[in-house]
Amino acid sequence: MTRTLLNRRLAEFGTTIFAEMSALATRTGAINLGQGFPDTDGPEEIREAAVRALREGRGNQYPPGPGVPELRTAIAEHQQRRYGLAYDPDSEVLVTAGATEAIAATLLALLEPGDEVVALEPYYDSYAACIAMAGGTRVPVTLRPRDGAFALDLDELRGAITRRTRLILLNTPHNPTGTVLDRAELTAIAELAQEHDLLVVTDEVYEHLVFDDAVHIPLATLPGMRERTVTIGSAGKTYSFTGWKVGWVTASPELTSAVRSAKQFLTYVASGPFQYAIAEALRLPDSYTDTLRADLQAKRDLLVDGLTAAGFGVHRPAGTYFVTTDIRPLGEKDGFAFCRALPERAGVVAIPNAVFYDNRDEGAPFVRFAFCKKEAVLREAVERLGRLAP
Ligand SMILES: *Cc1c(COP(=O)(O)O)cnc(C)c1O
Repeated sequence: MTRTLLNRRLAEFGTTIFAEMSALATRTGAINLGQGFPDTDGPEEIREAAVRALREGRGNQYPPGPGVPELRTAIAEHQQRRYGLAYDPDSEVLVTAGATEAIAATLLALLEPGDEVVALEPYYDSYAACIAMAGGTRVPVTLRPRDGAFALDLDELRGAITRRTRLILLNTPHNPTGTVLDRAELTAIAELAQEHDLLVVTDEVYEHLVFDDAVHIPLATLPGMRERTVTIGSAGKTYSFTGWKVGWVTASPELTSAVRSAKQFLTYVASGPFQYAIAEALRLPDSYTDTLRADLQAKRDLLVDGLTAAGFGVHRPAGTYFVTTDIRPLGEKDGFAFCRALPERAGVVAIPNAVFYDNRDEGAPFVRFAFCKKEAVLREAVERLGRLAP
């Protein structure tokens, strides 16, 4: 196997858990609540916009490196309209091949070998791999259950910062825990960043997927933070087109230019015609995201209630596509073993959160389920999971 040829930096990242679990779902016919993609496509008019761009020959050849001007302008307008953040479309906005490339390019551009990156654990799987590719060292700060949610311990965050720390890598709303950082937490992070002269990279791909009275606050809106923050966004989750891979970075001209330097040697450009379609998506009225949010919130409640009835410990997420459960009330303690057996036991696939931890023991009892699926699919999953009830 090529695995043995994989270099030392990437040796621990053989294949992702999603490949293993999705294969398990296919083999067993289980309902796949593992990977976070919607089972319904986004708005018809946006699909039609992509078709139109293809037919009219817009984006079929290499688009401009930083992204097509129509999309960069739409991203800048979106940041202004939603958050009052002013970015210049030419020097402060960069279109990427999804948030995934934005994360990779940002870390490759900003890290020197040996630099430390403080990141919230559990973390999105590409963070660890990209920090490793950039030669950086990751320093996890673990979100732990407190009052029904996974909470950030600000003292632990403070304690994680050393003279080698280059940047803080945030994700809010947070995958997989569903935690949405509040203003007090973001203010503390902003103060730390300024005190220690750190950059902050903030992955906000779930910016519009917040529930109940949770509010997403972009870190860049806090005093003193715009100049030291790289904000990462994506159309995939907000518009239910995860296959189109249209993401972006907004940051100061210096930071944007650095990220662009790395990005041009990764994909150079991507998603030509889709960029035009997403420019239209970003101009949809706010009622689009309001409806999406309400729809997802109802699905969250359906799955959370079902998991609770089935005997899981459940932390109700304030945002994202995911709910993290605790399997200890079911008499289980190893999420890997539990997830490998779940398709046979209950016909459902989930993801063991331990894969998102450096400290695997810390994540062992947690398992993630996605609720960005059709209501009927979630109902069937809940019924099946009911078989686990003690
Ligand atoms: C899905 C996801 C991404 C990747 O977004 P793409 O635009 O599909 O590349 C990045 N970060 C988080 C936290 C995600 O959940």
